[in-house]
Amino acid sequence: MPTVEVDIQVWCGTCGEGLCNQAENDRRGGVSVEACPKCLEAEYDRGYAARDNEE
Ligand SMILES: [Zn+2]
Repeated sequence: MPTVEVDIQVWCGTCGEGLCNQAENDRRGGVSVEACPKCLEAEYDRGYAARDNEE
């Protein structure tokens, strides 16, 4: 299989933060991207809020 280099630009779909530095080629030839720190923090806060509501 020929090797193809693709310049991929990735942005967070939630906040628009650039995620190029966090994008990694995975073994299947796809790209895996972790959520940007900003949104991870937001999710964390939301989890906390949800837990507080249950109590
Ligand atoms: Zn984000």
